[in-house]
Amino acid sequence: MIQVLSPEVAARIAAGEVVERPASVVKELAENALDAGATVIHIDLQDGGKRLIRSADNGEGILSAEVLLAFERHATSKIRSETDLESIRTLGFRGEALASIAAVSRLTLITRQREERAGTRVQMEGGQLIRQESAGAPQGTVISVQDLFFNVPARLKFLKAEATERNTVSALIGRYALAYPGVAFSLTHNGKELLRTHGRGDLREAVVAIYGKDTASALIEVASEDIPRPDLTAIGVRGYVGQPSLQRPNRNQITLFINGRWVQDASLTHAVVQAYHNFMPPGQYPVAALLIEMDPAEVDVNVHPAKTQVRFRQADAVFSAVQKAVRRALLAEAEPPRASDDLLWASPDFQARRERLTQVTGQRMSQFGLGLEFSEAGYQPRAEMTAPESASAPPVRQRKLPLMRLIGQVGSTYLVAEGPSGLYLIDQHAAHHRILFEQVYARLQAAEMPVQELLEAAVLELMPEQMSLFETNQDALLEAGFRVESFGRNTVQLRAVPALLASVDPMEALLGTLGLYDEEAGSAPRPPQEILAVRLSRQAAIKAGQTLSQAEMLALMRELEHCEQPQADPLGNPTLIHISAEQLAREFGRQRP
Ligand code: ADP
Ligand code: MG
Repeated sequence: MIQVLSPEVAARIAAGEVVERPASVVKELAENALDAGATVIHIDLQDGGKRLIRSADNGEGILSAEVLLAFERHATSKIRSETDLESIRTLGFRGEALASIAAVSRLTLITRQREERAGTRVQMEGGQLIRQESAGAPQGTVISVQDLFFNVPARLKFLKAEATERNTVSALIGRYALAYPGVAFSLTHNGKELLRTHGRGDLREAVVAIYGKDTASALIEVASEDIPRPDLTAIGVRGYVGQPSLQRPNRNQITLFINGRWVQDASLTHAVVQAYHNFMPPGQYPVAALLIEMDPAEVDVNVHPAKTQVRFRQADAVFSAVQKAVRRALLAEAEPPRASDDLLWASPDFQARRERLTQVTGQRMSQFGLGLEFSEAGYQPRAEMTAPESASAPPVRQRKLPLMRLIGQVGSTYLVAEGPSGLYLIDQHAAHHRILFEQVYARLQAAEMPVQELLEAAVLELMPEQMSLFETNQDALLEAGFRVESFGRNTVQLRAVPALLASVDPMEALLGTLGLYDEEAGSAPRPPQEILAVRLSRQAAIKAGQTLSQAEMLALMRELEHCEQPQADPLGNPTLIHISAEQLAREFGRQRP
C-alpha cells in the first residue's frame, strides 16, 4: 500500500541529508554565524556533541518577527530568486539547516537583531515549537542543540565514538579558522579548550594556532593570481602548503576553500598532489590549506545539501590555476637557502672542494651541445656551427644555485650532487632542457640561430596541411635556422637545420617544428619565439636513460648553475630537488634539539 509520509517523518528523512553527525551541525551553525557577519564564534561541545552543541556568535542576529521563519524549510534571507543561485556569495542559501537540525534535536535559540531592543528565545523539540518568548540578550545568536537524534534511533546508533566526533569538529573549526583569519574562533569540549584563534586577520597567526609552531614553520606561503584564459576572470590562490618534507599518509591534510566555502573536491586535491610530483615519494601526501577565489558565477555550489561539493564551469582552468600556484611556491622555496654556517655540512674538506669547484666553473663549457656526441641517425655534421662562439669572453651571469660537487648518476636519469647545505638530485633531461632553452631563446631574440648545413639537400614531400603550415610559417622557420624552400607541389627542399637539431633526423626536425606551430596556434599567449625555443630545446635535450660521462655530467651541472632560472625546465617541471642537510639529519634522527 502506497502512503504519503507524515510531515514529521518526511522532515526527519530530509534532515538526514543535511545533518549526519555532530560535525555537520557544527558546520551549519558556524556557516550561519559567518553569513551573519560574526567576528567572534564560540563553539562548545559536550560528549562529542551528542549531548550538546552550542554555537554563540556576535553577528547580525535575527529579527524577532522572523525567528520562526528561520525554522521553516526553504526559508532563507540569503537568496530571493533562482537567478541568485547562479552567483552565491553566502555559505548558506538552501534554507534547510535550521529546520533540519530542529527536526532531530531539542533546540534552543536566543537571538537579538542589531537594531532591536529585546531579543527572542525559542525552544523547539523534534521540530515542534515548545515556547517562544522575548528575552534580554546581547547582539548575536546563540543556538544550543541538545540530544541530537533523540528521535532518530537509527542515526543515534551509528554515531561514532565521542573522541572521533570531537576530533572531526576540531578539524572542521580549524579549517574555518584558516579560511577566516579575521574571525576569532574558539572550541571547547566538556569545558576544555581545544582551539582558539585571535581573529586579527593574520593568516600566518591562524596557521600557527591550528597546526602548531612546528608544522607551521615548515609551511610555504602561496599567493598568486592567474588569468587562465582570456575568457575567464582571474582565479586567486592564497594560503599555505607544506614543504615536501612534511608528508602525510593520506590526503586529509589538504584543505580547500572556494570563495570562503570549504569544499571536498577530488580533482583539485589531485591538482595539489600533482604539484608535488617529483618532490614527494608516491603514497605520501602534502599538507595544504588553500583559499581559492573566483567569480561566483563560475562555481555551482548547489550540488548537494551538505554544500561541500562544487561544480566548476571551467574545471580545467581551476585545476591548472591551483596546480601552478602550488608548484610555483614550491619551486621558489626550492631556491637554495643562503648557506648560513650552521647549515653547512660538517664535512671538513668541503671548503677545499668548494675552491676547486670555483676553478672548474671558471672555465665555461661551450654554449651548445655540452660536448655531447650524437652519432645516431647516420648523420655526420660537416661544418662547424656558423655562429661565432663566445667562449673567449663568457658572459658573467649571477649564480642562482650554489656550487655543487658531482657525486654521480643514478638510473641513467638523475645526477646526484652535494652542495653546501645538502644533497641535490638533478633531472638530466629537465636540466638540459632548461639550459638549451635559455641559450636558444637568447639566440632567437638576437636573430642568430646557428645553422647546420646538410651534406645533401633533402627533398621532402609534405601532406597538404603540412604544406600550408610551411607556407604560413616560412619566415619563422628561417628565423629558427631552417633553410627550406618550396620545390613544387607539396614538396620542399631542406638545405640546413638549426645546429641545435643537428643530431635529429632532418626531416623529423622540420616536421616536428611545423607540428608545433600547428599545436600552439590559437592557444596560450606565449611569444612565438619562446614557444619555438621551448620545443627546439626539448627536442634537442638529452633524454632520461642516457648514460653520461663524467665530463658531460659536470658540464651539465655547471651550465645549470649559470641559468637564469635553474629551478625548473621551461614547462615548469623541476630540474632539481634539494634535500637539506637538516632534513637528512632529521630523517636519520641525528638532529640536535
Ligand atoms: P540558510 O543558511 O541556507 O539561509 P538556515 O536554515 O541555515 O538556512 O538558516 C535560515 C535563516 O536563519 C538564514 O537565512 C538566516 O537569515 C537566519 N540565521 C540562521 N542562523 C543565524 C545566525 N547565527 N545569525 C543570524 N541569522 C541566522
Ligand atoms: Mg545556513
